[in-house]
Amino acid sequence: MKVGVILVGTELLNGGMLDTNSLYIAEELNKYGLEMKFKITVRDFRDEIYSAIDYCKKNVDLIIISGGLGPTLDDITKEVIAEYVKKPLVVDDDELEELKEKFERAGLKFKTLNVKEVEKPEGAVTFKNDVGMAPAVYIDDIVAFPGVPKELYNMLPKFLDWYVKEKKILDDEIYIKDLITYGIAESLLYEAVREFFTEEGIYYEFLVKDYGILIRLQSKMSNKNKVEKIVKKIYNKIGEFIFGEDNDRLEKKVVELLKKLNMNISTAESCTGGMLASKLIDVPGISEVFYEGVVSYSNEAKINRLGVRKEILDKYGAVSEEVAKEMVTGLTTDVALSTTGIAGPDGGSEEKPVGLVYMGIRIKDKIYVEKRVFRGDRNKVRERTVSHTLFTLIKILNEDV
Ligand code: ATP
Repeated sequence: MKVGVILVGTELLNGGMLDTNSLYIAEELNKYGLEMKFKITVRDFRDEIYSAIDYCKKNVDLIIISGGLGPTLDDITKEVIAEYVKKPLVVDDDELEELKEKFERAGLKFKTLNVKEVEKPEGAVTFKNDVGMAPAVYIDDIVAFPGVPKELYNMLPKFLDWYVKEKKILDDEIYIKDLITYGIAESLLYEAVREFFTEEGIYYEFLVKDYGILIRLQSKMSNKNKVEKIVKKIYNKIGEFIFGEDNDRLEKKVVELLKKLNMNISTAESCTGGMLASKLIDVPGISEVFYEGVVSYSNEAKINRLGVRKEILDKYGAVSEEVAKEMVTGLTTDVALSTTGIAGPDGGSEEKPVGLVYMGIRIKDKIYVEKRVFRGDRNKVRERTVSHTLFTLIKILNEDV
């Protein structure tokens, strides 16, 4: 089944906003074996949206639209769909009541123009918006979602679950297993596991994400046991590189392990400038284990805040194994992390090139230091430092504690 995606929003075409919704849509479609044939970006203009729908209607089976479902004048997506399918726009009393209650709960004043948010072409099916106002609206193989990413994330899975059943696209539910790897190149990963992908009806792909490389296995639910058998074989072969499954992330895994081991954590960051602490603090419930994050960028801060000895800084330089060690020693928690490196673009030398990073990990009295030279621009070096520190910590907590 072919899908066409229409992204509505003038800001997507004038350099004001980067389209990320279509990436998410493509990934979700993958899970159902649906294929995005193309995507079209249009401005908030009636004729442009209409032409895009018309083009899609002639070329694909399902049209997914994102954007233009809000209450303002330029939000015209539903009007254009109604015009295209030749139905009047109507408002369902219960949906209007629900919208008014949402406004009341949020302490917002409901205005007449907000009625527009629950308008839909007559006969349309709607999907509840748990995180915003306007529901998604479906009619005649055209579905429209608000442009706000978190609202799309909330409703697209609900819609696709319903749609594949409605259209009897799947006679069986889909089973997906993601194994999340870190620290192994895609080509080596492929070489290591390809011998396991011989089973009929089980599809696999490698997806490169900023948090690692995913091995995705996908099949019908009736093949679940076969998938799990392959998963076991993959673990046996490259288990050391797999840090989690499905919705696991490095930082989430770290927090889970710390809670299980009843340990708290602090960070002392130089080159990552708070990114490591921020990544950990992304995880809900982190307050149970996170004590403090120190951004000790200058040598003075390393001395005054962490007790790094001046003679060590003078002798080895700030970017060194010794300083990474002293930084974690200056923190008081069970687990302490430090980063010190040359993120670039300047500041490198033959002995200490751009990308050189030392990552300190202290667990109680035991100190480990990882040395790496990461490739990439300043930001990539810093992101890789964060991921590598978290991955190494997971390995140590799993194997050594
Ligand atoms: P609203 O009720 O906010 O008006 P809407 O359905 O009208 O919702 P838009 O006005 O088109 O949606 O977009 C709302 C916001 O969602 C935009 O300001 C932008 O931040 C974000 N957004 C829209 N389209 C995309 C996209 N394709 N990718 C990522 N973000 C998007």
